Parts: sequence; structure tokens; C-alpha cells
Amino acid sequence: MKPYKRPQYWNSPTMGWWERAYVFEIARGLWVTGSIFTRNMWRWITGRKGALTTYYPEETRADYAPLNRGKHILVQRENGKPQCIACNLCATVCPAKVIEIEAAFDPTDPLHPKYPARFEIDYSRCVFCGLCVEACPEDAIRMLKEVPDLPTFDRDTLWLGKEELLTWNPRKDGAKR
Ligand code: SF4
Ligand code: SF4
Repeated sequence: MKPYKRPQYWNSPTMGWWERAYVFEIARGLWVTGSIFTRNMWRWITGRKGALTTYYPEETRADYAPLNRGKHILVQRENGKPQCIACNLCATVCPAKVIEIEAAFDPTDPLHPKYPARFEIDYSRCVFCGLCVEACPEDAIRMLKEVPDLPTFDRDTLWLGKEELLTWNPRKDGAKR
């Protein structure tokens, strides 16, 4: 029987004397970092565009990738109620356990009697994985490409509630009756 050969997923360390001396590679790394730093500083001083840094909070980025997973929204029905049926699937699948939902019952709405009386996300621990969006059977929670304005000195302000999630640029295009 042929002996098992474990597959190798890394490059063999075939360093020449140049790399093994380290000092030249360190100098090369410093040269790359220093030249990019100097170029960015020059672009910033001369007011040119193209510097790789953003001067937050004075500047904010506007060019997020179309599929960037940013801030969550809760989708509204046409009557303004959340499309969410408080099934708790998103909270169950969330790996960071940052979604808290309190279900309530509305006897005056026979089509959608169950709704979230409280729906909160703790942004201090959310890892923006998007699993909550994937798990939702009602397409009731989505993530916009824009990121939320997160920096704060108070972690308690990072709990976003139902009202904010419903009204922060709500998307009614996919609203169900
Ligand atoms: S994006 Fe991920 S971590 Fe954040 S609330 Fe959704 S499932 Fe949880
Ligand atoms: S957002 Fe979707 S998955 Fe989460 S409780 Fe509401 S309906 Fe269920």
C-alpha cells in the first residue's frame, strides 16, 4: 500500500541568501511603506485626490462596493408595520447573538397577527456576516451597502431599536401586503 502523502498548502521555504539575510527585505519593506506614506502626504498637502486615507468624521466614503454589508434595515409593509413576523430565525442563526426580539400578538390583524414588539441589534458585537438576512423567510431584514455611523463613547448607544431600523432609509419596494 502506498504511504499517505499529506497535501501541502503552503510554499516551500526556498529563500535565497538575500532573503535569509533579512536586513535587505526589511529595508525593502520600509521603502515600500515610506514611499506610499510620502506620496499620500504629498497628495494631501497639495490638495490632490487619490490619497488612500479618509479624514473621518470630516470625510466619509461614498464609494462602498454594491454588495457591501452595511447597516441593517427592517422592511415595512404598505401600512407601515414591519414585514417581520417575529419568527426569531435571524436571532437563532446569528453567530454573535446580538439580535433580541420580543414577539407580540395583534388580534386586529388576522393576516399578520404576530409582530415584533421589540427588535434590537447590538452593533458593538455584530460581525456583519449577513446570516440574519439569509435566514429570514419573509425578506424582512436587509443590509444596505452604507455603513452605520458607529463611533461612540457609550456602548449603550450601539443598541439599535425597531423604530430606527424601520425608518433608517426604509425600503418599501419589496413591501408585501
Ligand atoms: S450580520 Fe451577522 S452578526 Fe450581525 S446581526 Fe446579522 S447574523 Fe448577527
Ligand atoms: S427579521 Fe425575518 S428572520 Fe428575523 S424574526 Fe423577523 S421574520 Fe423572522
